[in-house]
Amino acid sequence: MKRREKNQGGCEEAPAKLADANGMTCSRDADGKSGLSKMRVMGVLVACLMISSVFFSLSVVLRDPPSDGVPPDERVLELNAKSRRETGSVEGTSHSVMGSEDKLLGGLLATGFDEDFCTSRYGSVSYRKASGHKPSPYLVSRLRAYEALHKRCGPNTEPYNRAVEYLRSDDGSPKQFMGCKYVVWISFSGLGNRILTLASTFLYALLTNRVLLVDPGVDMADLFCEPFPNASWFLPLDFPLKDQFHGFDQNSGHCYGKMLKENSPDVMNKMNPPSFLYLHLVHNYDDQDKLFFCEDEQSFLKEVPWLIVKSDNYFIPSLFLIPLFEEELNNLFPEIETVFHFLGQYLFHPTNPVWGLVKRYYHAYLSGFDEKMGIQIRVFDTGTGPFQHVLDQILACTGRENLLPSVDRGRSILPNSYSHKSKVVLVTSLSSGYSEHIRDLYWENPTTTGEVVSVFQPSHEEHQQTEKQMHNQKAWSEMYLLSLMDTLVTSSWSTFGYVAQGLGGLRPWILYKPENRTAPDPPCQRAMSMEPCFHAPPFYDCKAKRGIDTGELVPHVRHCEDMSWGLKLINPSND
Ligand code: GDP
Repeated sequence: MKRREKNQGGCEEAPAKLADANGMTCSRDADGKSGLSKMRVMGVLVACLMISSVFFSLSVVLRDPPSDGVPPDERVLELNAKSRRETGSVEGTSHSVMGSEDKLLGGLLATGFDEDFCTSRYGSVSYRKASGHKPSPYLVSRLRAYEALHKRCGPNTEPYNRAVEYLRSDDGSPKQFMGCKYVVWISFSGLGNRILTLASTFLYALLTNRVLLVDPGVDMADLFCEPFPNASWFLPLDFPLKDQFHGFDQNSGHCYGKMLKENSPDVMNKMNPPSFLYLHLVHNYDDQDKLFFCEDEQSFLKEVPWLIVKSDNYFIPSLFLIPLFEEELNNLFPEIETVFHFLGQYLFHPTNPVWGLVKRYYHAYLSGFDEKMGIQIRVFDTGTGPFQHVLDQILACTGRENLLPSVDRGRSILPNSYSHKSKVVLVTSLSSGYSEHIRDLYWENPTTTGEVVSVFQPSHEEHQQTEKQMHNQKAWSEMYLLSLMDTLVTSSWSTFGYVAQGLGGLRPWILYKPENRTAPDPPCQRAMSMEPCFHAPPFYDCKAKRGIDTGELVPHVRHCEDMSWGLKLINPSND
């Protein structure tokens, strides 16, 4: 605002300088300057006009500070970096230009939010490559319809209060509930897992016309902005079953799998729908829990007002195998591998503290390079690392796939008639050892191409500390930073990497899981799609009631590159 006041009076700022230069001011002056020549007056007028037009232009640019709160000088830096890229310095990338940015992401995001509460929501577009993918008009319309449903039935509305009352007063007597129905997501497991299960549960809510409510757990509200306008997605603290969430498991009285175990299909068919059921979709679930993925069971679940879900799996691929949802899913996602890309971009907006971490790191270490590459290192072996075989594998992968230049260890300097392309490598890992080694490699030796390689790692937390606020904020900001890179190398089995690739719309190179502490050969493979892998899918033919390989049923649900029994969505045309 200060700048604006100054600029409105362009001539008020100019006098000192003009007086120095011309021995007069540009203010209108009635007393006794009549002796000046007309030429001089004209010259001064022209100068004043030029200066005020410069100030006017500046005032237009600075009048409304950008909603993401990036200071103008940072924006200029970012703009410079972008225009460098757009003049062709990075092959195959096209970053959006300020002013032409589509901050609603092709209609994916709703309008009507207070931007100050969550500057990442509309601000993130400035940091991302323009997506080559557009949400289908049908997805956009279903999201708007969902938002209306959420507003009508969300926390503390009359329908919500009625549904809670129904839950409280359930005495097992036969009755039918006619109001809004809900699916409650329990906060469970590591952050990457949580993001994937929440996206899965939201899609299930969309498919079944339920309202999604989120258990805030210890830190969900610190990490994520509200995704739906005018209504919270967080479950109110006084929700009657809240204290039981932690203890829900396969043996809980209301566990759907347990109910199926204890009752024959005949009994189930005659049973009145209970007021709530617990769905155990955690990796250790059994055959009865997995019947959730069968159409017949879905028709029973349809009548239950409250479904409570605990999961550590990205279970969307198996929703694609339920005939009941097939047509709707095809309409929502004509481009099948974009499911998490769009759901993730729709649902997960870093809160201002996390967005601060993202932006500060981005501007300090990642902007202005010709190419940006992320390497996400997750080692599931016991022991702290760093491990030599993991380092060998990373370098073998980046070398073989031409992701990073090789170095000439025999020479201290190479002739200067080669490329000066700059590449930044963002490494994320619990251990600092890998990035230190890669950084030293490119410091101590020249690259054979002349490319300049810079290596940075935001944190090295040493071990997973799920309950610590700053730890999870850093983890979320690092997933997000990885998603802003041009290319990605990720680790097998890691949901941390899946989130980054999905948000960024990137098909990563996946490092194979090492066996016996040996670097695998080949070290990595390009992913078939940007979709995450469902690690514990059911292998069951619901119609034939026998086991089947669910990775062989349809061309768009296949086994994962990094887990032979997992399932992932692919565009069959990518084959
Ligand atoms: P996954 O175990 O790799 O599937 O990913 P999760 O995100 O579910 O759980 C791993 C957790 O370990 C993360 O949420 C973080 O808390 C921590 N973690 C693992 N790798 C990193 C990393 O590179 N950076 C940070 N900051 N934390 C990490």
